[in-house]
Amino acid sequence: MDVLNRAEDIGEEIVLSIDGLSKRYYKTKKMTFALKDISFRVRQGEIVGLLGANGAGKTTIIKCLTGLVKYDSGEITLNSFKIPEQQKHALNDVAIVLEGNRNLYWRLTVMENIRYFLSLRKMGKPDEKSIDEMLKRVSLHNDKHTLVEKLSRGMQQKLNIAIALLCKAKLIILDEPTLGLNIIANHEIVKLLQEIKLQENSILVASHDMSLIESIVDRVVLIKNGGMLVDTDVKSLRQLFTSTAYRMCVENKHNTTLQRIIDDITSKYGSIVIDGTNENMWQFIINIYDKSSRENAIELMSYFLANDIDIEKFERETPDFQHIVSRLLSRELES
Ligand code: ATP
Repeated sequence: MDVLNRAEDIGEEIVLSIDGLSKRYYKTKKMTFALKDISFRVRQGEIVGLLGANGAGKTTIIKCLTGLVKYDSGEITLNSFKIPEQQKHALNDVAIVLEGNRNLYWRLTVMENIRYFLSLRKMGKPDEKSIDEMLKRVSLHNDKHTLVEKLSRGMQQKLNIAIALLCKAKLIILDEPTLGLNIIANHEIVKLLQEIKLQENSILVASHDMSLIESIVDRVVLIKNGGMLVDTDVKSLRQLFTSTAYRMCVENKHNTTLQRIIDDITSKYGSIVIDGTNENMWQFIINIYDKSSRENAIELMSYFLANDIDIEKFERETPDFQHIVSRLLSRELES
């Protein structure tokens, strides 16, 4: 398992702890590992993003920790209770918003759904004032008596999150909360989750939506083919890459065939990525993983000078979050 950095668990309440989780599935009589030795923690007030390509195992992790599927080995502790043995107690303080539209009763109104889910929590008579305030906060106060089936997907998702907040869940688990939403609804959900970030709830969110993950999470757990790739805080992830990435812009003043230069460069400096061209201006990014990237950058400068190609810009690159994650997923990290 490659782990960039695992923070110490000193003095912070652990809400969710997953240790050595493994899960096998049988597809057409062939056994495959959906999860292999997954371990990570979610602390009180922390927002952890679960990231990975399609089929990486994100939903399986959520299903295992909510007791929806049985796992083969490992240990899951949720709110100090073991899953699946003490599942009922463990899930008392947890709100789960699964992928898709299965979380609400479509034939019930907004208010009926809220009342129903609060009654399941045995929270006593719902406090109408808090419900009204929450509905205002998610802009659903004019739809109190609207059937859920008549709400847009974004409105349904906001209702899901509102119910999770009204239940005062210690841990909110979200599987792809922005999937299938239009830009405006997506923005509203991100804003809502950013607001929750300021509260005490812990959140575990599985998503492909990099802008969502980037704007709300404290830690990233990156999984690849069912195994752990990275468990680190967002700041460390950025710092690691900022210190080893370089961007270079050169001017193609002799109008040399781009392909020839690309072939020449990649055969000599395999770790260099050609990021884009702009008329006569080419941009190169030196591979962010390569330990010798600095030396390569300097050598590449000599190459351009020798070939009478002017270097317009040479700067340390701050790759965006999406860039970092896709690079991590596209190759194994060096240990
Ligand atoms: P996505 O982002 O596409 O939803 P994911 O990261 O959530 O993917 P999972 O749904 O957890 O991935 O799937 C992990 C692996 O387990 C995949 O190879 C998938 O095909 C397999 N898998 C999931 N559910 C089953 C099942 N019920 N039977 C057999 N294999 C399954």
